Amino acid sequence: MIGKQRILAGILASVVALGAANNVARAQGLPVAPAQAPAKPSTTALGQEALGWLADLIKINTSNPPGNEEAVAKYIATLLQREGISSEILPLGAGRSALVARLRSTAIADPSRALLLVAHMDVVGVDRARWTVDPFGAVMKDGYLYGRGAVDDKGMLAANLAAFVSLKRTNARLNRDVIFLATCDEEAFGDASIKALIAKNWDKFAAGFAINEGGVVVAKGGKVQYTAVQASEKVTYNVDVVARGTSGHASIPLKDNAVVHLAAAIEKIANYSAPVHYTAVTRRYFEGIAPLQDDELGKWIRSLDTSDRGEHAARVISDANPAWSAMLRDTISPTMVNAGVRANVIPAEARATLNIRLLPGDTISSLLSELNKLVNDPQVKFEVQQNAGLAAPTSSLETDFYNAIVKAAAQEFGGAPVLPYQSTWGTDSAQLRLHNVQAYGLVPFPLSEEDLKRMHGDDERIPVAAFTKGVDLMVRIVNEFAVSR
Ligand SMILES: [Zn+2]
Repeated sequence: MIGKQRILAGILASVVALGAANNVARAQGLPVAPAQAPAKPSTTALGQEALGWLADLIKINTSNPPGNEEAVAKYIATLLQREGISSEILPLGAGRSALVARLRSTAIADPSRALLLVAHMDVVGVDRARWTVDPFGAVMKDGYLYGRGAVDDKGMLAANLAAFVSLKRTNARLNRDVIFLATCDEEAFGDASIKALIAKNWDKFAAGFAINEGGVVVAKGGKVQYTAVQASEKVTYNVDVVARGTSGHASIPLKDNAVVHLAAAIEKIANYSAPVHYTAVTRRYFEGIAPLQDDELGKWIRSLDTSDRGEHAARVISDANPAWSAMLRDTISPTMVNAGVRANVIPAEARATLNIRLLPGDTISSLLSELNKLVNDPQVKFEVQQNAGLAAPTSSLETDFYNAIVKAAAQEFGGAPVLPYQSTWGTDSAQLRLHNVQAYGLVPFPLSEEDLKRMHGDDERIPVAAFTKGVDLMVRIVNEFAVSR
């Protein structure tokens, strides 16, 4: 199926290393080791089988809105039925249904011990003109499977499904219930979201532990650098900045022009940098990545938490990587601007939207009081929109499940570090954590920066080798935590 070994080789570290060694040997006139076949994408047939499921899932267009997740739920129900696993479809609206299935360890369920495998079925929409392949065609090209949702989150959906099905096929001796849950409306967090699902059906999937999207396995040049396990996430707020002034004919400029006051306010807000706050998770994350950086940057990362050099270190780190900056502090991104109805009319109001991500524990009121002081303009007011995320407790880094994930990931990826992670993005896990679930986030596939960027973007794709590795990892995690030996 994959004939383009040259490009596939780019994905596989072992092959890259072998190639480099051979080039050196050739240059030195030494005998060259016999060309090895590229390492098999997966040690199990299961990975290849799950790749077929992923292709099928991509072909079912679940762009949200409208979502249409029920079609995916039905596909999964049929697949599970073939495996002898019954499942239940949980309606959440027209064309929108979640799916739950359970493998029992005992006749009477103990929800506090149960393990929940979660993934969402909806995807974000596409700008078709900007894709080089059909986004819902599941095109296989150069060792990649292309399609909307290939990574976010149908890849994990298929990997969860594979891990779940493998328990049944191997007749595993479970020491806890394992629950498979496919959710709706993650991307829009509307009426069919996990919040609604929990409100209606919590008893059907109540669990003490969960694994969901939200983390990353960072790869560079085909080699895993580290695995970041999401244990916490920032909290999203949308806040409008509203400037009001006198409306009038544009031929007579006015000093209180709302557009001008809004622009000045946005500029001040954009230049604001919130103070650095550490959490237990970010501390451990930065400790873990320090040895992976060059000496200079590693040195500054190690100085982050010191009283004398911490402030300068935070500046260096933040300049080096905007993602690190966002992990250390509350952030504000102006995302929408709206003013005016006619070219020759000064509008009475100008409005911008700020997308704000708070560190867990920080409050919107204290940030806004800072911004008020900074803007210092009686014509400008802030209005908090009602759709804010909820601050959820951080999942513990001491649970057996966290340890099982760490152990499995280290084994799967040749001992590469496994670190806790506080994501700047939000996931369904916040809702689970609010229900006392120790929820952790992964996307179990080793991905390069370049492939990670395509999530929610154009030409989303997953390297086949990364997908099957991710399937292996999910199988390992579930076996480590839920199966008695
Ligand atoms: Zn997602």
